Amino acid sequence: MNAHNGSNGSSGTSGVDDIVACAQALFEDTNFTAARQWKEAEPGRKVIGYMPIYVPRELIHAAGALPLGIVGGGDQMDVIHGDAYYQSYICRIPRSTIELGVSGRLDFVDGMLFPSICDVIRNLSGMWKLMFPHVYTRYFDVPQNYVDDIGGNYYVSELTELRHALDELSGRTVTDDDLRRSIAAYNENRRLVRDLYRLRSEVPWKAPAAEVYLVLRAGLVLPVEDHSRMIGDYIRAAGALDRPMRDNCRVVLTGLFCEQPPLNLIKSLELAGCYVVDDDLLLVTRWLTEDVALEGDPLVNLASAFLHHSESTSAKYEPEESKKGKYLIDAVRRSRAEGVIFASPSFCDPALLDRPMLQHALKAAGIPHIAFKYAENSGQMQPIREQAGTFSDAIKLWSAT
Ligand code: SF4
Repeated sequence: MNAHNGSNGSSGTSGVDDIVACAQALFEDTNFTAARQWKEAEPGRKVIGYMPIYVPRELIHAAGALPLGIVGGGDQMDVIHGDAYYQSYICRIPRSTIELGVSGRLDFVDGMLFPSICDVIRNLSGMWKLMFPHVYTRYFDVPQNYVDDIGGNYYVSELTELRHALDELSGRTVTDDDLRRSIAAYNENRRLVRDLYRLRSEVPWKAPAAEVYLVLRAGLVLPVEDHSRMIGDYIRAAGALDRPMRDNCRVVLTGLFCEQPPLNLIKSLELAGCYVVDDDLLLVTRWLTEDVALEGDPLVNLASAFLHHSESTSAKYEPEESKKGKYLIDAVRRSRAEGVIFASPSFCDPALLDRPMLQHALKAAGIPHIAFKYAENSGQMQPIREQAGTFSDAIKLWSAT
């Protein structure tokens, strides 16, 4: 499968346009045509869906299957049946994910992984088991204890169980060497994602947040090798572009790690005068912050990377109170941001319960911030544009005094 056509790393706008158009087509396709075609291309291929935030995609890849990221239905899909399964006062992603399932859009998916992020996702995993009994469904628990002998051992046993389940599902035995090859492919992908984020942080006018998001999001659908090619081509093409620099302020966008904001919301922030220079969108693409070791036991290496080199987020336990919010302040300093925008899904417990503590840490560090909520299908962007625009103006005024 080609990630996109016609881009060979050319430096013209057309190179960027082609890549972004391809990524946008994947983003808009709620029938997952690319993943269906991948599966149909060879008999016996399997597709394993997963929800946010993180699953070890290396294991799925090593079993010869395609990991398919499912992040709800966005703003392109009416939720008709999904609403009947949930009360109104929770976020929208479980309802639109149910809609994807009952409307047959995921009828080609052989397995679904629901990582432990919150009670909503846990309940969804139970419902999926009942509703789609022919699909391998697993609530994928990850440790909240980061000691190797405790959380690490537990995580290795979870990975071992998943590996055996994937052996059965794929009809082949996943060897350690298979796993090492897959870890190498994802190491390469994460390196490119880090390069992409570095490019945007250094020259945000050349790599707008909405484009970066679309390129990143393509990685939920494409095989990792195709996605790596796409990112590399985008970095080369966008880096060589001569786009005008605007008088925008630089912000870190945070709180959006699960239900995704509408694409228009991301575009609106930049139109309102805020360059997004770091964010926590689609964390699965860069959850592990360093290369996973290739020598030794691959499951132990994956567990060790999870415990010691993984992103911080509101869905991850921080045992030391004094460190609460440190990762966010570090992100601000690293990206030379001038402020933080908290944007979270309505009714998102992990994000909204954490927000006051993070705001407290920012206040103590003297970092300006604003906050609002969204749903994946929010349509009215004017209030958000006004709020972000005022924030940007205020930052410029403060920095001028
Ligand atoms: S948006 Fe928040 S509450 Fe909803 S499923 Fe995701 S983490 Fe859980």
